[in-house]
Amino acid sequence: MDLTKLIASLPSGTFLSDTEDCVRYGSDWTKTPGQAGAVALPRTTEEVAKILRYCFEHSISVIPSGGRTGLAGGAVAVNQELVLSLERMSKMQAVDIHGNTLRVQAGATTQQVHEHCESHGLLWPIDLASRGSCQIGGNLATNAGGVRVIRYGMARKWVVGLQAVTIEGEILELNNDLEKNNTGYDLIQLLIGSEGTLAVITEATLKLTRFPKHSLVMFFPFPDPGAILNLFAEARKGPFEILAFEFFSKICLDAVAKKLNRQSKLGNTAAYYALMEVELTEGSKDAVEEWLGQMLEKEIVMDGMLALSDSEKEQVWGLREGITESIQATAPVKKYDVSVPVRKIGTFLQATEELLKVGSYGFELYLFGHLGDGSPHLNLVKHPETSMEKFGTDAAAFEKVLFPLLKNNGGSISAEHGVGLLKKHWLEYSRTPAELRLFRAIKKSFDPRGLLNPGKVV
Ligand SMILES: Cc1cc2nc3c(=O)[nH]c(=O)nc-3n(C[C@H](O)[C@H](O)[C@H](O)COP(=O)(O)OP(=O)(O)OC[C@H]3O[C@@H](n4cnc5c(N)ncnc54)[C@H](O)[C@@H]3O)c2cc1C
Repeated sequence: MDLTKLIASLPSGTFLSDTEDCVRYGSDWTKTPGQAGAVALPRTTEEVAKILRYCFEHSISVIPSGGRTGLAGGAVAVNQELVLSLERMSKMQAVDIHGNTLRVQAGATTQQVHEHCESHGLLWPIDLASRGSCQIGGNLATNAGGVRVIRYGMARKWVVGLQAVTIEGEILELNNDLEKNNTGYDLIQLLIGSEGTLAVITEATLKLTRFPKHSLVMFFPFPDPGAILNLFAEARKGPFEILAFEFFSKICLDAVAKKLNRQSKLGNTAAYYALMEVELTEGSKDAVEEWLGQMLEKEIVMDGMLALSDSEKEQVWGLREGITESIQATAPVKKYDVSVPVRKIGTFLQATEELLKVGSYGFELYLFGHLGDGSPHLNLVKHPETSMEKFGTDAAAFEKVLFPLLKNNGGSISAEHGVGLLKKHWLEYSRTPAELRLFRAIKKSFDPRGLLNPGKVV
């Protein structure tokens, strides 16, 4: 790619081309091999527009890049494309206390946004373990979920304005932060979840909500996912609002203990654990304690702990949030963030475990995720004695039985991480041929030359 004229027209230091930088910015958390041809680090929307216009005119492919914590390989530069990183665009305006909104540049991290809003008692309710690195642009491009979806929904619900730049360098200013605007197609919602294949998100106006004042965290051991689902059904009727309902299997807890030396106060002998965070609405913690007593009496739970202080809550959350990192450190992993209707999650997980008994696979299944959203993360972790080749063929054989099971249960091949590069070939399990035809037509109208994040999603 010849960027000479473009480089000369932008402030010095806007581009990087060292091999080390190109490898770093060209790959992401999935460790899929990638390397950028060059890296652009613009500071303004106008600079983004200039870069994209040049790329369009010179047929140069571009990969939009955020915090590179994506788990679908969406930000990987497989063919030495130009990586356009938003990391220098991280300015945030003052909170608008009338609209309860916040205007930010796309490169602000999720955590920076949380911290910025906190003093107003306000919250952008998308929260995920990668919060310190992932960016608002990446959160919106992937329509991130996270641990509070059960209470607040996905990222797409929390945006009232978006600025994005097309591959032709046109700056779109969408919706003007309006709460109500029924004037035709909703382009914001089309861009959210499009994984950098339609336009580059440069700014967003985020909708905020009041910070939950008092919360409690409960932690329970269980023999199987069906038993967790029984608690979940009871919790739906409890004297509180559920903020998060997560689960994980014993083997995940073992990995966290080994990698991060974080120990569970309940020990680690049960097959499964559930973590529930609740917001106290009516009454007080007495009502929760009474409810917990009833759960013990009805034998819905046999044991458990109630975390009241911030440090106790952090200790329990630390177990859940350390899982992705700990599994990654164990051995090569193949990750599947599937979803099924919540009512089917117990039978789906049981059927998945049955599938594993049928084959003699060279991997171990690590199960965890957002049970309350019907969104389990299935992680296949290579056995030490299995070769990489066998791991690959075994995973492919497992997919052949897993995806039809998902389809029969009305599930999706990606609950929240997106399609990116890694799940593109499975899309037909979740989308009909008619939907895929429309996907391609939409892609073509935004990006007629196929230059923006090529090879991803469609
Ligand atoms: C420990 C850990 C825990 C996680 N937990 C969760 C979870 O609970 N829920 C969840 O949903 N995800 C989770 N993730 C995945 C990941 O953090 C999210 O997908 C996140 O939203 C990605 O943001 P990012 O800035 O890192 O994007 P990147 O990885 O940089 O990019 C992701 C995709 O978005 C595109 N993109 C990035 N920025 C822009 C932009 N400005 N304009 C247009 N396109 C852009 C990229 O091209 C790519 O296709 C987790 C990841 C890790 C490592």
